[in-house]
Amino acid sequence: MTSRVGVVGTGPVGCVAAAMLAERNVEVTLFESMSAHERQLRASTFHPATLELLRRFDVVDDMIERGLVANRFAYRDRKLGQVASFGMGIVADATQFPFRLQCEQYKLCELLLERFANDSSVDVRYGTEVAGASDHGDHVTVALADGSELIFDAVIAADGAGSNVRKSLNLAFDGMTYEDRYVIASTPFELADHLPDLAYVNYISDSDEWLVLLRTVTLWRAMFPVGPEESDAEALSEEACQRRLQGVVARDEPYNIAHRTIYSVHQRVADTFRVGRVLLAGDAAHINNPLGGMGMNGGVHDAILLAAGLASVLSGDLPDERLDHYAAMRRQLAIDYVKRHTHQNAVSLSAPDPDARQRALDATVARAADPDEARAFVMQASMLNALHSMQEELTEVDCWPAGLERNVGATN
Ligand SMILES: Cc1cc2nc3c(=O)[nH]c(=O)nc-3n(C[C@H](O)[C@H](O)[C@H](O)COP(=O)(O)OP(=O)(O)OC[C@H]3O[C@@H](n4cnc5c(N)ncnc54)[C@H](O)[C@@H]3O)c2cc1C
Repeated sequence: MTSRVGVVGTGPVGCVAAAMLAERNVEVTLFESMSAHERQLRASTFHPATLELLRRFDVVDDMIERGLVANRFAYRDRKLGQVASFGMGIVADATQFPFRLQCEQYKLCELLLERFANDSSVDVRYGTEVAGASDHGDHVTVALADGSELIFDAVIAADGAGSNVRKSLNLAFDGMTYEDRYVIASTPFELADHLPDLAYVNYISDSDEWLVLLRTVTLWRAMFPVGPEESDAEALSEEACQRRLQGVVARDEPYNIAHRTIYSVHQRVADTFRVGRVLLAGDAAHINNPLGGMGMNGGVHDAILLAAGLASVLSGDLPDERLDHYAAMRRQLAIDYVKRHTHQNAVSLSAPDPDARQRALDATVARAADPDEARAFVMQASMLNALHSMQEELTEVDCWPAGLERNVGATN
């Protein structure tokens, strides 16, 4: 008999989980509280490891067409300019995609949602808010906000950081919130014409205000820290956004700011990613500092392993306990890999002590100059190490990317 799984949320994680389940002949109901898919400017970097995993859905070529290939990422100092550059070609032996793809996350969702529109095995229900889910051993009840209930063989909660499903299961979401929030101001102004050697991805340290500059097809996204003394409204004001952008490249005229957003930054992980047949994935399970762009990428990795594992357990091809292992493994990776590396990025950019910041910058320069160290660093930053650490599990559920060599210089 065909298994039926509910997936909550049409973000990148829910869409990938639904695609994985549909590939395994599971019937999917995909719930979305919004009335239609919204194009929000959020994560915009896909790492090589994620592209390797997405390859099976035939979406990567379209994503490349709709995005920008970043062949390197760079570290800069506001006053000195570029101080270190890491070419992604250094991992060309370990992936078909030796680049970061600068592509807004909504583009992946749109590609998959377009596909679901012609796939009778995925029923997308917009405007349907899930209030919670409860596990009953061999089935799961999903409670909708309108008071109705539905029954599934299992549920994947991909309903984002404020997950109703996680809350309904009374799972703690422990961790910390950074004192600084991040404001992002996006402009079509071509900063690369004014800042020599600007890469598509740049981490820029400074004694007064660090920043990150990321290119998308149409915009430069500039991300700055906002201290506790400044309110959200102040940081988002025209005056403050202009002041920050003018500090990057001073101009005689004001910037055209196409988009601005501010958000709090957390490092939090749910108690467990599994309660019986309810599985948590993506932001519903873990949130982290966006520096390094590992949150959405890690969520897509969760979606692949957990959805494929779930399909195998429901079809009887794998024992139920394997799901415990997958869920524990994804949780540990969220703690050990994503949290560690993104937090390191934050500390090295924003260390208030100038000596500490200089030491971090010196270490980055030395790393870029040493081919072995540079390669090890790019393997880690591109999440290829994280991918290799799941090699056995991905192989077991037939998700190891076709043709990808195993154990190519992978270390944690
Ligand atoms: C403003 C902002 C900017 C960000 N910028 C960056 C960035 O620059 N770089 C980076 O790496 N990461 C960034 N992130 C984080 C990144 O966007 C997330 O890691 C990523 O979206 C996680 O994907 P997800 O599918 O788990 O959750 P989401 O993308 O949050 O998707 C959850 C989906 O579930 C739906 N939903 C929620 N509750 C319910 C419910 N009860 N019932 C039904 N549907 C529901 C939501 O409408 C949404 O469509 C940003 C996040 C925010 C909020």
